[in-house]
Amino acid sequence: MKQNILIVDDQRPNLVALEATLAELDINIIAATSGPEALSILLKQNVALVLLDVQMPGMDGFEVAGLMRQRGKTRHTPIIFLTAINKEDSYLFKGYESGGVDFIFKPFDPFVLVSKVRIFLELDLRRQQLEDALNKLKQLKTSNEILLRSVGEGIIGVAANGVISFVNPAAELVLGCVAIDLIGQPVYKSVIVSAQQVDQRSWEESKIYKFCSQGQAYHTDVAVFRTFANRMLPVEYTASPTHLPNGGFDGVVIVFKDITERKKIEEKLNYMAQYDALTGLGNRNLFGSALNNAITFSKHSGQSFALLFMDLDRFKQVNDTLGHHAGDQLLKDVALRVSDGIRDTDILCRLGGDEFTIIINGKAAESASLRISEKLIGALSRPFEIFGQEIYVGASIGIVYFPGMGEDAQELIKNADMAMYQAKHEGRNRFRVFEQGMRAQIEESMALELELRRATDIMDFFLHYQPKVDMHSGDIVGLEALIRWRVGDRLISPAVFIPVAEETGLIGSIGRWVFETACAQVRAWHDAFDLPEGFRVSVNMSVQQLQDPNLVHELTRIMHHCQVLGDWMELEITESLLLEKTEENIERLASIRQQGCGVALDDFGTGYSSMSYLAQLPLSVMKIDKIFVDDIHRPQGSAIVSAVLALARGLNVDVVAEGVETAEQARELKALGCRFAQGYYFAKPLGVTDIDVLLMQKYARAAQDRRVNP
Ligand code: C2E
Ligand code: MG
Ligand code: MG
Repeated sequence: MKQNILIVDDQRPNLVALEATLAELDINIIAATSGPEALSILLKQNVALVLLDVQMPGMDGFEVAGLMRQRGKTRHTPIIFLTAINKEDSYLFKGYESGGVDFIFKPFDPFVLVSKVRIFLELDLRRQQLEDALNKLKQLKTSNEILLRSVGEGIIGVAANGVISFVNPAAELVLGCVAIDLIGQPVYKSVIVSAQQVDQRSWEESKIYKFCSQGQAYHTDVAVFRTFANRMLPVEYTASPTHLPNGGFDGVVIVFKDITERKKIEEKLNYMAQYDALTGLGNRNLFGSALNNAITFSKHSGQSFALLFMDLDRFKQVNDTLGHHAGDQLLKDVALRVSDGIRDTDILCRLGGDEFTIIINGKAAESASLRISEKLIGALSRPFEIFGQEIYVGASIGIVYFPGMGEDAQELIKNADMAMYQAKHEGRNRFRVFEQGMRAQIEESMALELELRRATDIMDFFLHYQPKVDMHSGDIVGLEALIRWRVGDRLISPAVFIPVAEETGLIGSIGRWVFETACAQVRAWHDAFDLPEGFRVSVNMSVQQLQDPNLVHELTRIMHHCQVLGDWMELEITESLLLEKTEENIERLASIRQQGCGVALDDFGTGYSSMSYLAQLPLSVMKIDKIFVDDIHRPQGSAIVSAVLALARGLNVDVVAEGVETAEQARELKALGCRFAQGYYFAKPLGVTDIDVLLMQKYARAAQDRRVNP
C-alpha cells in the first residue's frame, strides 16, 4: 500500500507546485487548504508525513502542529514546516516546540524537498514495521500467558539455579498454595520429593538438572511432589530446558499432572487382577504365582508343601434351584468358614465357580493337610443358612504334595484335580490324597458314563421288585421297584450308576422309564391277581426328578395312560441333605399324595431332617435305613429304632424296616413294634417271573399272566 503525504497550504498554486515536485515519488498526495481541514483529514487517514505551511489565516501551522501532538493518533506523525519568513532561531524553536521536525524555506529547492521527504517516508516505513513487530510480540505474549494460565497441567518455571520463578494457576491448585508462596524457593526442597529424601539431593545432582542442562527433556511418571500442606502427591512430569538467546541453559519448565486418581485405578485394577471380587480371596492369577513361588521355595529350602483342591458338592443345585444370589451368598459363607479352618500361613484362593485351592506350607505340611482337610469337610457339612433356608453343601478335596506328586504347577494342579474327582466319585464329602493309579480309575468312570449314555438311548435296563412284608401275617403287602443294568455279563449296581445319571442329567429320562415300566407292570399284576387293598408298588425317585416342575403332570399322564390308580403306587424319596424343604418340593409331594400315591422317606436316619420339617412333608411311610437294622442287637441300635417308631406314630405314618437279613433282626423289630419290613431274610429283589410265582401263591385268581417286563 502506498504511503500518504498530507500537504497543507492556503495558497492553491503552492499546493500545485508541491504536488508537481513530489510527483516523482510513489506516494499518495492529499492536499488541504487550511488547518482545520488538515486536522479533519488526519483524523480519518493514516499519514506518513505532513508538509505544513506556517502562515495560514485563522489557524497557523504551529497551532495545527500543537493540536496534532495532543492526539494519540498524530502525536508521532512527522511534520515539515514550509515557511517563507525568517530563519531566526526563536522562530525555529517555536516550530520545534510545537512538534515539528524540520523546516523547509520557500522558495524551496525541489531536490532538497524530495530527498527530505524520502528520508521521512523511509523512517515512517521503519516505524510502521517496528510497530507491527511489537504488536505481534504483544499478541504472542498475551496468548502465551493465557495458555500458561489456562492449561490443566501444573507448570512450574525453574531458574538455572533451581529456584522457582513461575507457578501457573493449575499448579497453585494442585499444590494448595499461591504462586508467591513458591516463587524464590528452591524447587528441590519445596516441591519435588527426592527418591533419597534423607540426603536431600541438591538441584545440581538431580535428574532434571542433568538432562535439561544438556539440552534434553526429562520425563517420569513415578514422581512425588510435596503439597504446601505437606501431603505427598503422586505426579507425572516432564521437565524441558529453556534457553538464553545465546543458546545457554536458562532454566527448566516443569509440566506436571496429579495422578492420584490414575494411581487409585491402577491399584484397583491390580487388585482386581489378583483377587476375587465376590469372596475377597486370591483368584486364579494369584494362585498361579503363589503356587510357582511355593515350588521355587520348596526347591531351595528342601521343605515340602501340600496343595488342596476343593470343590463343593452341591453348589450347582443351590444355584439352579435358589438362584445366583443364593449361590453367591453361599460362596461367601464358604470362603469365611474355610478361612477360619486354615492357618495364617496357608494360602486360600478361589479359582472360579465353586473351586477353591489351599497351599499349605510349613514343616509338617503333609500331616497338616490331612488335619485341615478333615476339619474343612466337617465345617462344610454343617448346614448353611442362606436367605432363611438351611442348605447342606459339603465338599470334596483332592490333595497333592510337592515334591513327589508332580514336577511343575500344571502337573500338581492336574493331579490334585484328579484326587478331588476321585473323592467325589467315592461318594463326595471326603478327601483323597493323589495316587498314581487314580488316572485309571477316572478313565474307568468316564467309560461308565459313556456306557450309561448309550444304555439310556435304548433304555437297556430292567426292573427287579423286592417284596415288602407284613411281619405279623407274613403277607406281601407291596413291592419296591429297583432298576437293574447289565453290561456284558456284569450287573452294575444302581448305587454306582444312579449318582452318575444324576450328575449327567440322564436321571430324568431313566426315572420316567422306570415309572412307566413299573406302572405297566402294576396294571398287568392287577389284571392277573387279586391284589389286596393297600398293596403298593413303590418307585425310587431322585431329588433331581422332584425338582422338575413337570413331574406331577408327567406322573399323572403315565398313570392315566397305564390305567393305574394312584392308590397302587408309592414314591420313595431319599432323605437327602438338601432342598426337600423348598415350598415347591413340598407342594409337589402334596399333589402326588392327592392322586392317592404314597410318599415314602427312604433311608431315614442317614440325612439331617429336623422334626419341624418332617412334620411339613406329606409322608405316608418312613423307611428305617439298613444301618440301624444292622445295629438293632445293640442297645443303642434298638433305642434308635424305637425312637423312629415313636416319631412315625406321632406323625401318623407307617414304618418299613429296610435290609432285614436275619430272623433275629426280624424278631427284634417285631418286638419293638415294627410291622413292615423288607430284606434278604424275606426276599431278595426278584425278576417279574419270580414275583409272579409269589403273587400267584398268595393272591391267585383265575386269570392269565400278562407280563410286561420279562
Ligand atoms: P434303596 O432305595 O434304599 O433300595 C434298597 C437297596 O437295598 C437295594 O439296593 C436293595 O437291593 C438293597 N437291599 C434290600 N434288602 C437288602 C438286604 O437285606 N441286605 C442288603 N445288603 N441289601 C439289601 P439296590 O437295588 O442296589 O439299589 C441301591 C439304591 O439305588 C437304592 O436304595 C436306591 O436309592 C437306588 N435306586 C435303585 N433303583 C432306582 C431307581 O429306579 N431310581 C432311582 N432314582 N434310584 C434307584
Ligand atoms: Mg428305595
Ligand atoms: Mg433305602
